[in-house]
Amino acid sequence: MTQIAEPETARTAASSETVHHWIGGRRVAGTSGRRGSVFDPATGALAREVDFASVAEVDAAVAAAKAAFPAWRATSLSKRTEIMFRIRNLVEAHRRELAALLTSEHGKVPSDALGEIARGIENLEFATGIPSLMKGGFSEQVSTGVDVYQIRQPLGVAAGITPFNFPAMVPMWMFANAIACSNTFVLKPSEKDPSASLYLAELLKEAGVPEGVFNVINGDKVAVDRILEHPDIAAVSFVGSTPIARYIYETGTRHGKRVQALGGAKNHMIVLPDADVDMAADAAVSAGYGSSGERCMAIATVVAVGTAADPLVDAIAARLPKIKVGPGSDPASEMGPLVTRQHRDKVASYLDSAATQGATVVADGRAHPLYRQSEGFFLGTSLIDHVTPAMDCYRDEIFGPVLTVTRVGTYEEALQPVNDNPYGNGTAIFTRDGGAARQYQFDVNVGMVGINVPVPVPVAFYSFGGWKASLFGDLHMYGPEGIQFYTRAKIVTARWPDPGTSKVDLGFPRTR
Ligand code: NAD
Repeated sequence: MTQIAEPETARTAASSETVHHWIGGRRVAGTSGRRGSVFDPATGALAREVDFASVAEVDAAVAAAKAAFPAWRATSLSKRTEIMFRIRNLVEAHRRELAALLTSEHGKVPSDALGEIARGIENLEFATGIPSLMKGGFSEQVSTGVDVYQIRQPLGVAAGITPFNFPAMVPMWMFANAIACSNTFVLKPSEKDPSASLYLAELLKEAGVPEGVFNVINGDKVAVDRILEHPDIAAVSFVGSTPIARYIYETGTRHGKRVQALGGAKNHMIVLPDADVDMAADAAVSAGYGSSGERCMAIATVVAVGTAADPLVDAIAARLPKIKVGPGSDPASEMGPLVTRQHRDKVASYLDSAATQGATVVADGRAHPLYRQSEGFFLGTSLIDHVTPAMDCYRDEIFGPVLTVTRVGTYEEALQPVNDNPYGNGTAIFTRDGGAARQYQFDVNVGMVGINVPVPVPVAFYSFGGWKASLFGDLHMYGPEGIQFYTRAKIVTARWPDPGTSKVDLGFPRTR
């Protein structure tokens, strides 16, 4: 594979310019007069504004995508493959600028931002296999002189609506397969950190993606609602919180669209008494506090079985003071700020409700100096022990650097709350007992399971999807199910009889 060299001079990652839309292969300034604020979470300062689209502006993006579809659909598989390779190489070559954008608007530290981009690139690499992925099937001689074959064709215009926590990876989860399958695409990124999408749009253009094939509409509910009802949009992919995912699924399907809507999570990590305590503690801390807990696959709650509890809580607590919380501009920082002040304060509020409801706050992130001294949206690491399923800190998706511990006596008591939980995105079990791990994989009502792996995000050649309130729709995202989502099957039944061999037959066609 051709590697594109790292650019010598990094582009300015972020500017104070307003973030516009991307329609028909160029930046288009908003005309609605409505805008949102984008903050630098590390300083708390207003970094720039983002245009909020009107219905007419969404319509313009969809019209550009619709107009581009016939030619893109007619573009050969080999040409599309070549373009997907170029996109992959350009994103790889510009990953540092893209990572800087993520840090400046989301707050995640560079190592985490680069990890997100690497997982997005996996999806671009998967999509370079589109000639094999779109292969159909052929059955010869299903009846005398009759063949049947299946081809997969694109849907037309597809839309993606994405969350703040993965501003580069989640769009790549969607558009890589969507455009490789020769759909055209309209992306509505999170209004909290929209710049990465515009940057990706420029890279796609540079890679040779024709005008109108990839469009970005910035905005809020006005834009989302127009996408959901637009007659020229065939399919909607969504990733975000559960209430909005449910709304997207119900509204989009009511308007006749194919919809996959991935929602929130509450991921449990079961630790059996035979687990290696240090390994389990390292995993719980990495998966609980990485990206400040703002990951849909973050471990939110540890379920400690029997004698595992005391040493595990001690081992987790011992690791917390060593985590370096700070801005992504400091290379030593391991955990950045939260995305907004409002979100940071909501996360912190669970520490009070937990104490009031009878839990033990082992570590309170508000004690971190940056919580009080910085204008940035910082919160240190928090650990809450003796949490029960009735408490708010257990029931709600906190989405911050707060890890809770629930103590149970047996494996069965550990399984019960996981299966009773309304969410079913990810889960992990830590044990040295292969039989127990296999039983958990068999028993648990969750879509993605890790065995001694705390963040089991599937690689791009499998698909990503939770169960229960973590996904509305039938198909998981990216990987083989992504190809299925962005294409529909056409079955052709064909024969080439010699003239003079036909007769009238009003009976239902039979193969025998
Ligand atoms: P969110 O639901 O607030 O927003 C997601 C998208 O929906 C954004 O583009 C936003 O502009 C739009 N939106 C928000 N409110 C809307 C409304 N009332 N009507 C129409 N559109 C609306 O989610 P978020 O806060 O950006 O992201 C965090 C959430 O996403 C968490 O719940 C997290 O678990 C979830 N998430 C899930 C996955 C997954 O794969 N299951 C992955 C990442 C994030």
